[in-house]
Amino acid sequence: MKAKLILSIVFLVVSVIAAGLFSFEMEHHATFTLSLRSLLFFALIAVFVIFLIVFLLLSFFSKAQKKSSERMTHLARHDTLTDLPNRTSFFAFLKENIAKAKENNSYFALIYLDIDHFKTINDNFGHEIGDRLLQVIARRLYSCLRESDYIARIGGDAFAIVLTKLVSLDVDEIVRRLQMTIGASYNFDENEVRLTTSMGVARFPKDGETALTIIKHAEIAVYAAKDQGRNNCQFFTEQLIKDRLQDAYMENALAFALERDEFFLMYQPQVHAVTKKLVGMEVLLRWRHPKLGVVSPAKFVPLVEKTGLIGQVSEWILATACKQYKLWFGDKTDITMSINLSPRQLIQHGFIERVIGIVEEADVSPDGLHLEITETAVISNLDLADKILLQLTAKGFQVVVDDFGTGYASISYLKRLPISAVKIDRSFIINVATNHNDAVIVESTLNLAQGLGLEVVVEGVETEEQLEFFRQHGEVIIQGYYFSEPLIAEVMGRYIDEHVNKSQE
Ligand code: C2E
Ligand code: CA
Ligand code: CA
Repeated sequence: MKAKLILSIVFLVVSVIAAGLFSFEMEHHATFTLSLRSLLFFALIAVFVIFLIVFLLLSFFSKAQKKSSERMTHLARHDTLTDLPNRTSFFAFLKENIAKAKENNSYFALIYLDIDHFKTINDNFGHEIGDRLLQVIARRLYSCLRESDYIARIGGDAFAIVLTKLVSLDVDEIVRRLQMTIGASYNFDENEVRLTTSMGVARFPKDGETALTIIKHAEIAVYAAKDQGRNNCQFFTEQLIKDRLQDAYMENALAFALERDEFFLMYQPQVHAVTKKLVGMEVLLRWRHPKLGVVSPAKFVPLVEKTGLIGQVSEWILATACKQYKLWFGDKTDITMSINLSPRQLIQHGFIERVIGIVEEADVSPDGLHLEITETAVISNLDLADKILLQLTAKGFQVVVDDFGTGYASISYLKRLPISAVKIDRSFIINVATNHNDAVIVESTLNLAQGLGLEVVVEGVETEEQLEFFRQHGEVIIQGYYFSEPLIAEVMGRYIDEHVNKSQE
């Protein structure tokens, strides 16, 4: 700026002198001679031209420099792929916004939005498609927001949205809109892709008063959304922090649980609806921690899966259950034992060989063993399920689809896969005797499964009325508190004695 000013002044002075000399020359000399004065005049003209060129060049370069420095600043503050503000600008914006909100006594909400399973997109379709998809996602999210809102890309597939000028802290409507816009299908070349998103919301000032805390709390909320199975939105609460701390404590403690012999198995009887004979049992894992007491598997099994210990723990379950089975029944029995397989375990290298090895070692015949695999695990990767289930059934194991009906999917896989039974989820059973719609759903599920020649196990039967409903459908197997809660091995041993051995005497 300074250089330009000096140049302009010099330029002005030179122009004035040159103009003066020129008019003087014109007045005194009709013809041009090479007098000293005219030399001076031409020199000044030359200087003037040089100055003009330098001036033009300088202003051109300074414009270019300004542009390039603006570009550099833009690049430093924006994400190159989506052109949205990046993490650094987001942080600066959040700080500024907090200051403003404090001044105006207003509030705002931060939504941490993470695209579910984006890695699979990159793995399946390549990074180029992944990048193009992110650009579309960014545009869709941006167009969903009001002018006063703010969006930044703060990680590979993570976006931060700040909703300012809120009339209330109710952000459900925008959350729904975001879910819908992400959920609409994407078309790339020949491919059609559908996505879901996990969101965590933290609100100012209720959930934190500094940028760091607000971000941390929105992150904790998004972790909770992922733990809930993704495709949902969680709002930050103090309880989430406590849960996280407990999860961290449990994760650490679980690493020692096997060697400290803290796991044990329970067995829940499965009884024929009409004959009321014991036909099988499900093996259920328990963990007794010295300080936490007996922890529910719904709490700790996901952590065992997350930490990668599931392989070792599942092998222990299978070996212990097989040993117990052999001890109770020797070589001959019609009673089956159902063992839960974790979806994580299925994809581990050498899983089938290890299952077969353990069962052979225990000298148990595979036809007595039912392997339970959840419907969600089956439909999330049909090809893999097909391959694994075929290998297992070829070895003589029976496969049961657990939590049947919860997968929200076409059940055409039942025709395709080598499945011998389905286990209707407890959620359908709860109101089966009192709610007409539930009864119709369960009835048609029963008809479908039985029509396909599959055995049906019903889980969670607690009352006489529920039992009566199923008794009318004949060949159904009942598992539930009505007959028995899960029992420790010793008590299950007595149950078997009473219900099998005695009835055979
Ligand atoms: P799941 O495989 O669906 O197991 C059935 C659950 O329903 C068991 O809960 C059982 O105790 C419960 N249940 C059975 N009948 C009734 C009833 O009449 N009323 C009520 N309210 N509940 C009933 P549990 O033992 O707490 O297990 C929860 C989940 O933890 C299991 O669901 C399974 O997903 C997982 N899990 C348990 N044991 C194992 C295991 O050995 N391996 C693996 N991978 N997962 C396991
Ligand atoms: Ca099960
Ligand atoms: Ca189940």
